[in-house]
Amino acid sequence: MSDSTLPASQAQERANLLGMTRGQLEAFFRDLGEKPFRAQQVMKWMHHQGVRSFSDMTNLSKALRDKLEQCAEVRPPEVVSCHDSSDGTRKWLVRSIEGGLVETVLIPDGDRATLCVSSQVGCSLDCSFCSTGKQGFERDLTAADIIGQVWLAIDSYDAFKAGKDRVVTNVVMMGMGEPLLNFDPVVAAMELMMDDLAYGISKRRVTLSTSGVVPALDRLSEVSSVSLAISLHAPNDALRNQLVPINRKYPIAQLLDSCRRYLAAQGDKKRVVTVEYTLIAGVNDQREHAVELAGLLKDFPCKINLIPFNTFGGSSYERPSGNAVSRFWQVLIDAGYIVTVRTTRGDDISAACGQLVGEVVDRTRRSERHRNRAQSDLQVIAVD
Ligand code: SAH
Ligand code: SF4
Repeated sequence: MSDSTLPASQAQERANLLGMTRGQLEAFFRDLGEKPFRAQQVMKWMHHQGVRSFSDMTNLSKALRDKLEQCAEVRPPEVVSCHDSSDGTRKWLVRSIEGGLVETVLIPDGDRATLCVSSQVGCSLDCSFCSTGKQGFERDLTAADIIGQVWLAIDSYDAFKAGKDRVVTNVVMMGMGEPLLNFDPVVAAMELMMDDLAYGISKRRVTLSTSGVVPALDRLSEVSSVSLAISLHAPNDALRNQLVPINRKYPIAQLLDSCRRYLAAQGDKKRVVTVEYTLIAGVNDQREHAVELAGLLKDFPCKINLIPFNTFGGSSYERPSGNAVSRFWQVLIDAGYIVTVRTTRGDDISAACGQLVGEVVDRTRRSERHRNRAQSDLQVIAVD
């Protein structure tokens, strides 16, 4: 039996090297009585070559390979299903190593290919427009689950040996979950994304999106230099309290101040924060909201990304018309902002945040009423 087919109960006792940062892996080898440079060799095998089996790591001694077989493993999360959209978007439904489904989406766009990575199974923050939030919180992903989503995307194109750099050029932590509520694994995985011995993506091309966990954002500025996006979605606290409940704890002024501190810690005056604003028909998409937003963000170093609301089952919110989006956009442009509108990609495969897992969870719940049918979510996917 190869290590990849070991039952999870046996495999869990082994150290999963995939999610270890360079420093953690060096400490691991030191504890084994080995030289720290072994960490660099193993990192290249895992992240440059896509190799999971220690027996294939031919520049390690036979004795070390045997030792690693006993005490370690290279385990990405499991791909449950893979869906290709007609527009080139690819989406994976992924089972985390300790259980629970998340999704990962790759969005190619010209020379770029942006991977949207999940950080948690579900989310506890319950934003009113988010299908992940409606699911509630299930569990945190491990660092191996998070970096493993980059690994499996490259592996899925069979691209480890033939140009992995072109498969994933950018990463956004905008999948399921609130990354700052799963701090250490997210920081470790982002470190690996940027490490030349792993994926070597520049800090400008790795973006963490947060709904505004202010103390964790302050901590982030001490340990990371990734690009920052904030989920604002409203120009005032009264409306944001309804849409993004964590605003009641950390209101807009505190969030913007924390962002300013983050940028100051980077010491690069050219860096800006991306402000995400999901436009919901009749809720936050009116002209007066745009005018108020333009006032709020005056003097705040940012660009604005407008996201027309993606519908999902059970939500009473609606997507605004194209005219409403243009009107909102125009007000901000006239006020001098850089504004982009996120185009919907992968519509035919439910690639908008949380949609695919939402469907699977719904189907699982439905089928729970027919107990003889639903033995596992995997089977339910196969049956339906
Ligand atoms: N928890 C983090 C990152 C994941 S959500 C955060 O909130 O920033 C990633 C982005 O998708 C956020 O800007 C979020 O507001 C947006 N989003 C979530 N549900 C959406 C929906 N139904 N339609 C459009 N955007 C949505
Ligand atoms: Fe969580 Fe982000 Fe969804 Fe809010 S928008 S519920 S923070 S995943």
